[in-house]
Amino acid sequence: MVDVNKIRQDFPILERSIYNKPLIYLDNGATTQKPRCVVEAISEGYYNTNANIHRGVHFLSQEATEAHENARKRVQKFLNAESSDEIIFTRGTTEAINLAASSYGDKFLKEGDEVILSEMEHHANIVPWQMLRERKGIVIKVIPMNDKQELDMEAYRSLFTENTKFVSVTHVSNVLGTVNPVKEIIDIAHSHNAKVLIDGAQSVPHLKVDVQALDADFYVFSAHKIYGPTGIGVLYGKKELLDAMPPYQGGGEMIATVSFDKTVYNELPYKFEAGTPDYIGSTALARALDYVEDIGLENIEAYEAELLEYATSELKQIPGVKIYGNASHKSAVLSFLINDIHHYDMGMILDKQGIAVRTGHHCAQPLMSALGIEGTVRASFSFYNTKDEIDMFIRGVKRAVDMFS
Ligand code: PMP
Repeated sequence: MVDVNKIRQDFPILERSIYNKPLIYLDNGATTQKPRCVVEAISEGYYNTNANIHRGVHFLSQEATEAHENARKRVQKFLNAESSDEIIFTRGTTEAINLAASSYGDKFLKEGDEVILSEMEHHANIVPWQMLRERKGIVIKVIPMNDKQELDMEAYRSLFTENTKFVSVTHVSNVLGTVNPVKEIIDIAHSHNAKVLIDGAQSVPHLKVDVQALDADFYVFSAHKIYGPTGIGVLYGKKELLDAMPPYQGGGEMIATVSFDKTVYNELPYKFEAGTPDYIGSTALARALDYVEDIGLENIEAYEAELLEYATSELKQIPGVKIYGNASHKSAVLSFLINDIHHYDMGMILDKQGIAVRTGHHCAQPLMSALGIEGTVRASFSFYNTKDEIDMFIRGVKRAVDMFS
């Protein structure tokens, strides 16, 4: 059970007023608010244990190193990875995908090799592959959607040829909320000897992920979308793959020895972490994972499903509404348009009522093209949202419709 009133007390920002109205924050897909314990982990880190990590002989450095490496173990446990060497800290989902596409792609993909993406990818899971295409001449293929905005699995199967080497798809769509059948996607790819990266930016905050059960080759996410700090994220990769891949960036930390003639790279995970890592952020991320798992991902999933169902049924009663994302298995995202009201206008009117939603293409322009629209209004929910807030959101939407009619 989610005790939402108790939970809300952990998030001071939820008490804010915007234009003298209580803040109703429905932009959780873009970033989540931070519980007090996460902000405290950041201030505790800077106030009490700040020292640059690794190779430090002094006490504080060793303490900070231990906190950072414990955070890595915390992420390992969260994803159920086999080893903490498989957890690479990055700046976020975007950097994690760039790292995988660049390092794996440069070493293992060649001209004519095919990479499968899907129509519902975020730009972060499109552009790095296009950059690889420019460098290496790979071919990008795209899984289309059916009319419920689910991936067309028959079409997916038919995309494979002997040249298919890699599949990179999102677990949950940031626009549609569609939860993709990633286990099946991975199994099919593996039966063709292709590797798979799963973009978990929108899944880890909402549902339990087990990278070993999925048999994912790579799995990536951002801390800020799971109640953690900005500027840090995770690349999970199977050890044998990460071992075989070249470093992504060069510098301190990622080396064993350096001379002007020859440099020997460090072992995993440090090989992929050039420069001073965000050791305060990693500790705060670990605290966020504790927080989320204390509530329980099963509880979160059940509560958010209730919110989504309620919001969807209320929204559907508004004449002229069109919902984008009608998958059977959906996460707590509600994208819509009403008649010909521009998404931006709707967003502005909701904002004046203290309601924060996101409008626009949501960094998924190819998806917008597939849907034949320029953008949507997107409300995305968290376990700290309430049915009362949804009622106010629906009233706000109706007010906007009245203004335009
Ligand atoms: N993938 C998906 C599905 C996302 O929703 C986002 C963030 N909107 C990203 C990737 C990029 O995440 P970040 O900006 O934190 O790197």
